[in-house]
Amino acid sequence: MVDPSKIPKTGLTGRTIIYDEDGKPCRSCNTLLDFQLATGKIPKNASKVSTETFTEVIFDLIPGSRTYRKVPPPTKEVIGRSSWTLLHAIGAKYPEAPTQIQQDEMSRFMALFMRVYPMDDSSTFNEIQKAFKETRPNVSSYKGFNSWLCNFHNKVNERLKKEKFDTTFWEDRWANGWE
Ligand code: FAD
Repeated sequence: MVDPSKIPKTGLTGRTIIYDEDGKPCRSCNTLLDFQLATGKIPKNASKVSTETFTEVIFDLIPGSRTYRKVPPPTKEVIGRSSWTLLHAIGAKYPEAPTQIQQDEMSRFMALFMRVYPMDDSSTFNEIQKAFKETRPNVSSYKGFNSWLCNFHNKVNERLKKEKFDTTFWEDRWANGWE
């Protein structure tokens, strides 16, 4: 019998951890981070740090290292957020009037990126691939590429039942910063 005082009530995200009727942490009701804490996969004394985009946990150091920590493999959310950050940051630096070579490179990069992106399952992969092929990146200009990327990101948001991002705020979010 587990000592009830040892069962974490609040997760590292600051939310209350939800348990099912058998007292087991509910996988689909908690964030992965909180679920891992409740199932003992993350030490209870781990502390959290908030960076601009992520809440990260401070883990023990890898034996023999002074800097590298035992960080677990990335979740799909972390991979996704990092990927969108990279793609929109690339978009923010895309030329106003790209040369033919730059346009070809961007087309090839996006096609390869989509082919190697680690997606959950084949049906999601096929759907997102299909949406990508249907819209094809507009690589003709800075404006064209970023508008395409925002709309494509919104298609993925829609597929994941997330809120649509108001693309008029694209440059504030990814290029110029907020006033
Ligand atoms: P994200 O969608 O990661 O967005 C990060 C930030 O971008 C947001 O906080 C917001 O500020 C900004 N933003 C949001 N929408 C837009 C937009 N339209 N234009 C400009 N800026 C925007 N996850 C799955 O669970 N299953 C999948 O099959 C899956 N497929 C993916 C396929 C691709 C190609 C990519 C890149 C990601 C995929 N993801 C998938 C990850 C998913 O899209 C999210 O990245 C993840 O769920 C984390 O979401 P988030 O709420 O942090 O915001």
